[in-house]
Amino acid sequence: MKQHKNRDWLYQKYVNEKLHMWEIAKLINVSRTAIWVWIDKFKIERPKPLHENKEWLYLKYIKEKLSSIEIGNLSNACGETILKWMEFYDIPRRSFKEINSGKNAPNWGKKGKLSPRWGTRHSEETKKKISTMLKGKIKGRKQSGAHIEKRIKTRRENHQVSTNWPIREEHHNWKGGISKLPYSFEFNNKLKEQIKNRDNFLCQKCGIHEGILKRGLYIHHVDYDKQNCDPSNLLSLCVSCNFKVNYKREYWTEYFQDLIMEV
Ligand SMILES: [Zn+2]
Repeated sequence: MKQHKNRDWLYQKYVNEKLHMWEIAKLINVSRTAIWVWIDKFKIERPKPLHENKEWLYLKYIKEKLSSIEIGNLSNACGETILKWMEFYDIPRRSFKEINSGKNAPNWGKKGKLSPRWGTRHSEETKKKISTMLKGKIKGRKQSGAHIEKRIKTRRENHQVSTNWPIREEHHNWKGGISKLPYSFEFNNKLKEQIKNRDNFLCQKCGIHEGILKRGLYIHHVDYDKQNCDPSNLLSLCVSCNFKVNYKREYWTEYFQDLIMEV
């Protein structure tokens, strides 16, 4: 029996030693899927980092007006991670203007003698520059519809020449337009949520968590048959993996079927 089917061993590695699922998998040479299945089975939970809590994140960023880096320091993560989680929870980011304008601007409220420009004058050259800038109105230049169309057309032509992109019927992945077939009616949001839940919101190929993805996880049909909505034929993939499995379809079908069998 492999160690991962032993609750104490798994608990030790995952909670006490804080290893990632893929690290544990590598340790005893089983698939990562097998690890998460058993962690789920034993209901082993790791305390979540502070920044994965929406209320806490909201409090720190919106109410206390801390920066993402300051929040990261509090919960032991980098600013980038904090921003990704904020995006996941739809917490609006402060704009650059908001951060550096008004009362936050370095020279806010410094008038008269306190102003850094006190007692200085613009040079003649600067005055001319400001004058032409205001007269020229170059900023608001509009392009005519015909001009835009022409630009798109040339861009398209150049693209075709440079990539030699095949027309669809010649492309090796062209299956006669079957991707236009409607998904079966069972393939609804509820089912998709169930599958994601089962997969612990992790991409089943690379292991990335939905929380840090810009777009959510996709539900992939293992045998590419969109009518087959049996849970054993469905798994969660991130955008980039979902794109990759469009190629070498037979290989990936076998790969994922093995993965599901292993569980
Ligand atoms: Zn992935």
